[in-house]
Amino acid sequence: MRAIISDIHANKEALEGVLRTISGQGVDEIWCLGDIVGYGPDPNDCVDLIRKNCSVCLMGNHDWAVVHSPVGFNSAASRMIYRTKEWMLVGEQATDTERERWQYLVNLPLRHTHDGYLMVHASPRSELTEYILPTDVHYDRGKLLEILAITERFCFVGHTHIPCLITEDVELITPGKSGARFELGEKKMIVNIGSVGQPRDMDHRACYVTLQDEVLTYHRVPYRFGRTSEKLLALGEGYEMLAHRLSVGR
Ligand code: ZN
Repeated sequence: MRAIISDIHANKEALEGVLRTISGQGVDEIWCLGDIVGYGPDPNDCVDLIRKNCSVCLMGNHDWAVVHSPVGFNSAASRMIYRTKEWMLVGEQATDTERERWQYLVNLPLRHTHDGYLMVHASPRSELTEYILPTDVHYDRGKLLEILAITERFCFVGHTHIPCLITEDVELITPGKSGARFELGEKKMIVNIGSVGQPRDMDHRACYVTLQDEVLTYHRVPYRFGRTSEKLLALGEGYEMLAHRLSVGR
């Protein structure tokens, strides 16, 4: 069995909660679809936990922004990118651990393929930036058909923080409750696995999936988001929105 997680966003409490739950599920391997950092207060701890626990981790747009620069980010997001750079960038006095952590972030790959499964952070057409939104089913069918056309079988993504499945016939399936199971079947599918550290489907619980014999299960894990919010508020002015959204899941 595999677990697939994404969009941790430096939320240590959520990541620890998810890893604890996964450790009791008989999972052999964990894949992470990127955005380990950004938005949240604990990037170093989260990178260390991902390095220790995941056999694959992809580059997300926030990881890229910390390594390079925040292009096209809103002010709250880019403020945290610059903060994260301060916390993570290695100077001459850096320890080996700090250097290795930074190099890990710099070298994250853009995609991973395995037996007809394609993993990317955002979209197979633009691995870091393109949003595949649930509303595209109504407003941008053409885009979804183009993405499905270049998808071999199943494409797993994160990036929007909204868990959903989009079928080859461009139908939208919303997983709903924790424990919802889906047979992947013969047809192509785009699978958004949701977000560990900043869910945006009005459910504040951390989200991830497990995959066994082409059966996909969504899981939701309650965690102490109040602690994460407190750390964000302690950073000073400009972090209120990031702190508040964790309690509502949007
Ligand atoms: Zn993200």
